[in-house]
Amino acid sequence: MIKTDTYAVFGHPINHSKSPRIHRLFAEQTGQIIEYTAQDVSAESFAATSKQFFVAGGKGLNCTVPLKELAWQYADQLTERAHLAKAVNTLACQADGSILGDNTDGVGLLNDLTVNHGITLRGARILILGAGGATRGIIPPLLEQQPADLTIVNRTVSKAQIIAQDLATLGTIRTCDYTSLQGQQFDLILNATSASLSDQLPPLTDNLLCSGGSCYDLAYANQATAFVQWGVEHLAAHSLDGLGMLVEQAAEAFYIWRGIRPETTAIIKLLNDERQITNING
Ligand code: NDP
Repeated sequence: MIKTDTYAVFGHPINHSKSPRIHRLFAEQTGQIIEYTAQDVSAESFAATSKQFFVAGGKGLNCTVPLKELAWQYADQLTERAHLAKAVNTLACQADGSILGDNTDGVGLLNDLTVNHGITLRGARILILGAGGATRGIIPPLLEQQPADLTIVNRTVSKAQIIAQDLATLGTIRTCDYTSLQGQQFDLILNATSASLSDQLPPLTDNLLCSGGSCYDLAYANQATAFVQWGVEHLAAHSLDGLGMLVEQAAEAFYIWRGIRPETTAIIKLLNDERQITNING
């Protein structure tokens, strides 16, 4: 009997994860037969549970909060982008049984911004709010697009400074605190803080977004997040949340595992239609 290839997303909490649904839609679309489940896994049990999963024949894992750094440590080999990100969201069992760690968050954001929404990054003044794991993962592909400049603002400035130092070989990264943003303007503001998850907004000044500029919240919800709302109120050309990024990073993980790249447009549309957000403008 042929055994179905098994995949899973590990995280805590995990019950609201859209990943099983997205990967089942990808499998259906591409004619792949896979099983994909969500498992509540704490940081303490991550290494043992992952080992058990792969020993039992599991083919790949997605890792989400709070496990991405632990997955980075767990992997036997890392891709260049995972090495730079110091965080792994995709683990893949290789032919020799070793585990490859990758980070598909950055390429997921890039595809959503540039392919799905036609936002030009070359020559843009980019501001990233927050200096956590997501910021680290998205900076390398953003810098590859040659923006005019890239600034990280964070409550704890030292965390932004460490990221800027670690990634200095890729390009110049400015860092500051929120009060220093007074008088500055940006073409693209990316919210990579976790503030939206508790319906909060970082302390943003008015006039921060230039005319024709765009806002993007990496977080997503069934209603417009506080930052998406801020973008709408400040007349952003696009004020988007991270659902597109979620689907795009999943598509890249699916490609790593199955060698087939799913088509994402219809799936993003389906998930958007289901949540029926009307005040996010595409
Ligand atoms: P981390 O916990 O690593 O970092 C959180 C950051 O948010 C820190 O810099 C923290 O600042 C800042 N922060 C938290 N609350 C506030 C606040 N009220 N005001 C200002 N700053 C705040 O999170 P991650 O980097 O892992 O994730 C960030 C966001 O990206 C989350 O919303 C996550 O859901 C989203 N994400 C979305 C993905 C997608 O596919 N759409 C993929 C990955 C992440 P400080 O350092 O000062 O504490």
